Amino acid sequence: MNAEFDDLLPGIRVGLDMDGVLADFNTGWMRRYNREFGADLDASMVREWDGLERLTHFRSMSEFWEWARGDVHSTFRDAPALPGAVEAACRIAQRHRLVIVSSKFEWAIPDSLAWLADHAIPAREVHFLWDKSLAGCDIYLDDAPHHLRDLCVAMPEATICRRVHTWNEPMPGVIDIHSWTEFEALVERVAQERDRGDDMEG
Ligand SMILES: [Mg+2]
Repeated sequence: MNAEFDDLLPGIRVGLDMDGVLADFNTGWMRRYNREFGADLDASMVREWDGLERLTHFRSMSEFWEWARGDVHSTFRDAPALPGAVEAACRIAQRHRLVIVSSKFEWAIPDSLAWLADHAIPAREVHFLWDKSLAGCDIYLDDAPHHLRDLCVAMPEATICRRVHTWNEPMPGVIDIHSWTEFEALVERVAQERDRGDDMEG
């Protein structure tokens, strides 16, 4: 088999979340909200994971999602990329297996796939999962407190990373990541450790 096309890349499986990691979900929906309702929301106003609807006139998250779903496309499609995210994903994909691991409602999946295509994310795998451990990655980057907690419990052998935002907090067993530079360096470190471990076993 041609090594150039070998699916078993020499690297590791790097699992990236979409919203809050690659995509600026809050800026996406807030721009539409401001336009439609004459509001002045800004992504910096999101301070906790729960209760997005409290920044709006919606009475519940289900009302919020009903609106976010939209008539033509959902606000997931509108989200700009977070700074440096696309470039970092491309660099990681050159050396490792890039795996998108995102939790999405069924209705949001087509727009999420379109978003990945719009931003030319070279992912080898795309998973829409509620249980992210099923993607079996060596390292995960996520921003959702419940996912970070669940991954830590389900995958003690994996490296679990929190994309630091105002809506999440440090957690035992989870590595804080403030920048793509920091994350890419960690990916290389985990890959090297994996290599050394393989050598010792072999
Ligand atoms: Mg997220």
